[in-house]
Amino acid sequence: MTSHSPTLELAMELIRRPSVTPEDFGCQELMIERLQALGFSIERLRFEDTDNFWARRGTDGPLLCFAGHTDVVPPGPLDKWDSPPFEPSIREGYLYGRGAADMKGSLAAMVVAVERFVKHHPDHQGSIAFLITSDEEGPFINGTVRVVDTLEARQEKITWCIVGEPSSSHKVGDIIKNGRRGSLSGHLKVKGIQGHVAYPEQVSNPIHRLAPALAELANTEWDQGNAFFPPTSFQVSNIHAGTGATNVVPGEVELHFNFRYSTELDADTLQHRVHQCLDQHGLEYSLDWTRNGQPFLTAEGELVQAAQASIQAVTGYATELSTAGGTSDGRFIAPTGAQVVELGPVNATIHKLNECTKVEELELLTDIYENILARLLAPSRN
Ligand SMILES: [Zn+2]
Repeated sequence: MTSHSPTLELAMELIRRPSVTPEDFGCQELMIERLQALGFSIERLRFEDTDNFWARRGTDGPLLCFAGHTDVVPPGPLDKWDSPPFEPSIREGYLYGRGAADMKGSLAAMVVAVERFVKHHPDHQGSIAFLITSDEEGPFINGTVRVVDTLEARQEKITWCIVGEPSSSHKVGDIIKNGRRGSLSGHLKVKGIQGHVAYPEQVSNPIHRLAPALAELANTEWDQGNAFFPPTSFQVSNIHAGTGATNVVPGEVELHFNFRYSTELDADTLQHRVHQCLDQHGLEYSLDWTRNGQPFLTAEGELVQAAQASIQAVTGYATELSTAGGTSDGRFIAPTGAQVVELGPVNATIHKLNECTKVEELELLTDIYENILARLLAPSRN
């Protein structure tokens, strides 16, 4: 048997547990065991079908929290994997397996970083916490959002939060996410009057009626973004109308669209502007909205500074701040007033076949997390 580093060993142990959302498959107990041994007090928070836990070491502020998820997305067709997705395999310096990058590698790095840090600084300042869920990849109803509600209800405040999502692009730490765009979806139905195409005076064509309004929505400049966000974007994902017959004007056209929006705007304003446009065009319609997440931004502060300095110290290169990409659980934590950054492995293979992460980058990530802990909770060390 070859001996692996503690981070690699733990990452492999986690990958062996096939924790497809919302199943946790014992991943959290494995982490809990390790954290308990370090003096963390553990609170298991199971909501419906979802396991979560909150672990805290220390009672004082400031509170540095590591956040993440033990669940993974389904592996897809097993015969398309070069090695079984739930049997960790190391080939040419890479660790393969579902969750290697998203995000069992980061969970292992967090635990080992904290183990090392506590060993060197048993009387560190403030507190360290873990906020771990098994429903990040799923409907996000019984996960982080409910743990945050529990903390808020008793006024337990996170000062700094590191989310271990795979934020990096080419090499670990080259990019950290210090915010995310908001996401707002709409389901629009425009009504018309169905009839024969040969009798236009007897029909009201909902496609024709929608077209000019849609052109206006597609061409609107919603904002210009700002230093941290690209301009807000409007995209139609589905449009449907028609009976299939070529001589019938349909009675309705249906449209799904989505906004990814910056901190220059909020959901209320966007909704209002869309309704204004549809009303100006005199449409008869129904419109259902889904708010998937508000934008958040940690523009500056101790956490961003510590993360940047730690990445520089460990890897020798500078990191770039970004707000691009999809949503993450950071959106639930940031509104409590916490500074939030996402810092984790390279995201090139996440959710794909043959998901992998570079073994040496798991070690670098462990070093970076430990370095951040030291900067924020043991600043007098020399
Ligand atoms: Zn993830």
